[in-house]
Amino acid sequence: MTDNTMPLRAKVASTVSKTAAALSRAAGRGDGSVIGGWIGLKIDPDLLAHLAAGRRVALVSGTNGKTTTTRLTAAALGVLGPVATNSLGANMPTGHTSALARAGRTPYAVLEVDEHYLAQVLDATAPVAVALLNLSRDQLDRAKEVAMMATLWRDSLRGRDTHVVANADDPMVVYAARDSTNVTWVASGQRWHDDSWVCPECGAHIERDGDDWACARCDLRRPTPQWRVDGDAIVDPDGVAHTVHLRLPGRVNRANAATALAVAAQFGVRPQDAVAHLSEVKSIAGRYATVERDGHTIRLLLAKNPAGWLEAFDMAERVPTLLSINARDPDGLDTSWLYDVDFSPLRDRTVLITGDRAMDLAVRLHVNEIAFEHVPSFSRALAAIPRGRLEVIANYTAFQDIRAELDRVN
Ligand SMILES: [Zn+2]
Repeated sequence: MTDNTMPLRAKVASTVSKTAAALSRAAGRGDGSVIGGWIGLKIDPDLLAHLAAGRRVALVSGTNGKTTTTRLTAAALGVLGPVATNSLGANMPTGHTSALARAGRTPYAVLEVDEHYLAQVLDATAPVAVALLNLSRDQLDRAKEVAMMATLWRDSLRGRDTHVVANADDPMVVYAARDSTNVTWVASGQRWHDDSWVCPECGAHIERDGDDWACARCDLRRPTPQWRVDGDAIVDPDGVAHTVHLRLPGRVNRANAATALAVAAQFGVRPQDAVAHLSEVKSIAGRYATVERDGHTIRLLLAKNPAGWLEAFDMAERVPTLLSINARDPDGLDTSWLYDVDFSPLRDRTVLITGDRAMDLAVRLHVNEIAFEHVPSFSRALAAIPRGRLEVIANYTAFQDIRAELDRVN
């Protein structure tokens, strides 16, 4: 994209968008990307398409892991040249517009896309590749809505030549992607099965045998993956294992890295050239951040929905663990999802609980036969455990509260 090729209306919209974002930042109102993008799109509804034109774009969508996978994919494409990305997680068209306007001319862009906006952003950006990670319920959704989202994805991909990089282990994603012309399958794993027991194609039961799965009635079944994770290595379609030294914890992040390499391969990036760049990615908007305080080494893990809790248990090491739960608007007001999550992986460690809804969590842990101690605040949690490691797993606003408390002291 060059500024000379953009229509005047788009140029004006882009400039105003950047100015509004800068003013919003100067006023201390966050990073300004939403307001900047909103104003830009009001002036020119096609601004996102104009800003994307001439760039080679990758999109990343799914319920969990999209912010991390976007960062890893941007790092992998960095082998080729400058990459624009919405690294602050503003993942709707306003955020995309603002990110591209702010980045100026770059040959590449990697955009995290809220799963509800995938069709719209596919239309606007005509990406080279789109990564589909997983679909599971958020706090207020139910399994039926998950299948509806999979159908929306499938319909939005129909007839496009965009290359799809999709998770072979999630039946909802396979259903959405399998009719696409060009698909690369990644064995990204699926820890959370509760939203995919029923075939989205025919309604029959999905049967599982180890990693394999298949519908009991129709032809929906696990495709053979081209990319997979094997211990600390990512195995490419030629069977070559690439050892990755990620600074992000857990198997789930190695799977995210495999997806990033598979997307980058569609841009001509060889995995052996990209792996070193993946280890440059560490904490993402405070997630996975390690903070030293009062002789404690504290790591923060965000878990926004039931599948995210299971992934956090996989990432957390066997050290004292603080769980914090709120139920404010961004979290969902209903805490009944606690009963969808099996907390038994925590039985082998010291568990502390806090947050607005600690009592709901207490009842849940009691039913799950997990011993725990309630603490009224984060600082009291630190006082209650010996110096050393502490893992913190919190839902959205609880996570923000703890980050704010750490920022005040550090
Ligand atoms: Zn079926």
